[in-house]
Amino acid sequence: MTRPLPQPDPATSPYWNAARQHRLLLPKCTHCTRVHFYPKAICPYCSADTFDWSEASGRGTIYSFTIVKRAPSPAFEAQLPYVVAIVALDEGPCLMSNIISCDPDAVHVGDPVKVGFLDITDEDTLPVFELLKTSK
Ligand code: ZN
Repeated sequence: MTRPLPQPDPATSPYWNAARQHRLLLPKCTHCTRVHFYPKAICPYCSADTFDWSEASGRGTIYSFTIVKRAPSPAFEAQLPYVVAIVALDEGPCLMSNIISCDPDAVHVGDPVKVGFLDITDEDTLPVFELLKTSK
């Protein structure tokens, strides 16, 4: 069984296409100029419906996280244990992702992270994050 993969729609396709190119893009409202996440059809701040895409630094900090030790489906069993985290990007928005390439017990709220990209298939790449330091 393979893990569930993104199902891009018109609002999210630019995000996933950029991820495939190992770039992290955020929708930036052309009216109020704020960035937000996740990609939506309408700006959550001013309700405008036109966006540019702004390249994020890929840097942020861990806002919250959990260590998953029991797979929610057989598709995730091979990854156990793994970290699901909410990352507060330096640009402001938060996104949910995985923290990879580290001992899950080394992860702490407030740790700085940087984006990486996990190529799952030729068509599917997931933005993930790595710790900028390995211990506290
Ligand atoms: Zn706006």
